[in-house]
Amino acid sequence: MKSVVIVGGGTAGWMTAAVLARLTAAGIDVTLVESEEIGTVGVGEATIPSLHDYNQRLGIDEDAFVRATSATFKLGIEFVDWRRVGARYLHPFGTFGRDVQGVKFHQLLLRAQRDADSAGTLEDYCLTAVAARLARFTRPSRDPAAVLSSLRYAFHFDAGLYATFLRERAVGEGVTRVEGRIGSVELSPDSGDITTVVLSDGRRVAGDFFVDCSGFRSLLLGEALGVPFVSWQRWLPCDRALAVPSAPTAPLLPYTRATAEKAGWRWRIPLQHRVGNGHVYASAFVDDQRAADALLGGLDGAASAEPRALRFTAGVRERLWERNCVAIGLAGGFLEPLESTSIHLIQSGIARLMSLFPGAATAPVERDTYNRLLGTEYRQIRDFIILHYHATERSDSDFWQHCRTTPPPDTLAEKLALWRERGRVLPEPGELFTDDSWVAVLAGQDAAPAALDPLLAALPCDEAGRFLHHLHGVIAQTAAAMPDHAAFIARHCASAHGR
Ligand code: FAD
Repeated sequence: MKSVVIVGGGTAGWMTAAVLARLTAAGIDVTLVESEEIGTVGVGEATIPSLHDYNQRLGIDEDAFVRATSATFKLGIEFVDWRRVGARYLHPFGTFGRDVQGVKFHQLLLRAQRDADSAGTLEDYCLTAVAARLARFTRPSRDPAAVLSSLRYAFHFDAGLYATFLRERAVGEGVTRVEGRIGSVELSPDSGDITTVVLSDGRRVAGDFFVDCSGFRSLLLGEALGVPFVSWQRWLPCDRALAVPSAPTAPLLPYTRATAEKAGWRWRIPLQHRVGNGHVYASAFVDDQRAADALLGGLDGAASAEPRALRFTAGVRERLWERNCVAIGLAGGFLEPLESTSIHLIQSGIARLMSLFPGAATAPVERDTYNRLLGTEYRQIRDFIILHYHATERSDSDFWQHCRTTPPPDTLAEKLALWRERGRVLPEPGELFTDDSWVAVLAGQDAAPAALDPLLAALPCDEAGRFLHHLHGVIAQTAAAMPDHAAFIARHCASAHGR
C-alpha cells in the first residue's frame, strides 16, 4: 500500500483527508481530487454529539472550530406537528432522570403521570432539554456527581466553512489536492480493482486504494464498480429538498426545529450569521411549487437567497467496501437529515476504515467486517428515522396515511411491540441511538404503553414521587443558572461571520 486517492472534496472528502493525512507519516501518499466546476451538495448543518470524537481525534480546539464555522451549540431537536398538528416535543441529547434499582426512569415517570397530573413531562427530567427550552448553554461539568455533568451537546455549523477548515489542515499535513473533473475510471483487467482516475484534461491519478467521496453520483463504487443501490423509499418516501438561508432572529435557539408538513417536514437550523432552512418532501405527494410555498411561508426571517433544489433516494449501496474502494458520505448512502446523522455516518466510516486499514489492495476480512458494521449502522439509523413517520396519529394527508399504514421493517416492528406492551426500550448493542433517544421519540409520538414494567411494584409510589420532585427541582435550578446561549457564544467563540 503506497498511495490512497480520495475522490471528492465535500464534507466527506475533507473529513476523510484530515484523518488519512496521518498515513503520510507511514510513507503512504494521500491525494484528494475535487472539482470546483461540479461543486458540493452544500447543505448539512446539524450534527450530533459524536462529532466531538472526530474533532478530538484531530486535536481541534473547540472554540476555534466554533469561530471558524460560525457554529452555534445544539442541545437536541424539537419536533413540531409530528404526532398530530399542534403537538411538540424535544429529542434532547443527554439522559432522562436516573434509573432506580434496575427500573428505567421513564417507567417511574409514566406511572407517576398516570397517578397525578403534577408529575411533569419527560423533558422536565433532562437538563439538556430544560436548558434548550430556556435558550441557555454552558459546557458540562467534569464532576460526575454534578447534575451539569449530564448535559450533552453538538453543533449547528456551516459545513462549507468546516470543509475549508479541514482542507487547510489536511493540505498542511501533506495531503495533495488535485483540482479537476474526473472523466473516466480505469480498472485492472486482471483483478477488476480501480487503478486510475483520469481527469477530463488527460491528467491521470493512480492509486492502490480509493475512497469514493464523490457524492450522490457514486463515481467509483456505484458507476465504476457497479455496486447496486438498495432503496428504502417504501418506508421513507421523501425524495426532494429545498434549502434556503434566512436572516438570523433572536433568541438564538440552541436546538434544531423539525416541523412536519403535509408531505414531509421543514428544518430550521440557527447558525451565528444566518438560519439554515429547508423542506424535505415526497414528490409523489406534493408538487415543487407547494413545497416551496410551505418553506418560504414558514420562515422566521427574510430569505437571503433563492431556494436550492436537491433530489435523492433514501437507501444505501449493497456493499460500502468493494475491491480496493470504500465509499464514504453520499457516495455510499443517504438518510434524510431528520436526526442529523449523515456527518456521523461519515465519521463512523472514517473511524472504521482507520481501524481496519488494509495492508494491501485486497483485504477480504477487513472488507467483510467493514461492510457488516457499516451496513448494520445504516439499518439501525434507518429504523429510528422511520419511527418518526410511522408512530403518528396524523391522517390529514395521503402522505401521512401512507407513512402510518406502511408496515415497518421487522426490526422496528419488534421495538414498537416492546414499547406498546410494557414501555420497554432495548436498543441493539452498539446502536447509535440510546434508549433515551428511543424513549424521547416513542413518548413524543406513540400511544402510551398498555402496561408498565412489573418490577415497578418494588418501588413504592410515595418514595418515587419524592425522588421525582427532588430531581425536577435540581434540574430546573441548574438550567436557570446557566448563561444565555447567545451570551455564551459572544463571550467565548463569536465568529467573524457573526452578528
Ligand atoms: P458532496 O458534497 O456532493 O461532495 C462531492 C464531491 O465530489 C465534490 O467535491 C465534487 O466536486 C466531487 N466530485 C463529484 N464528481 C466528480 C468528478 N467527476 N470529478 C471530480 N470531482 C467530483 N448531514 C448532516 O449531518 N446534517 C444535516 O443537517 C444534513 N442536512 C442535509 C440536508 C439535505 C437536503 C441533504 C441532501 C443532505 C444533508 N446532509 C446533512 C448530508 C450532508 O450534506 C452530506 O452528508 C455531506 O455534505 C457530505 O456530502 P459528500 O461530501 O458526500 O458529497
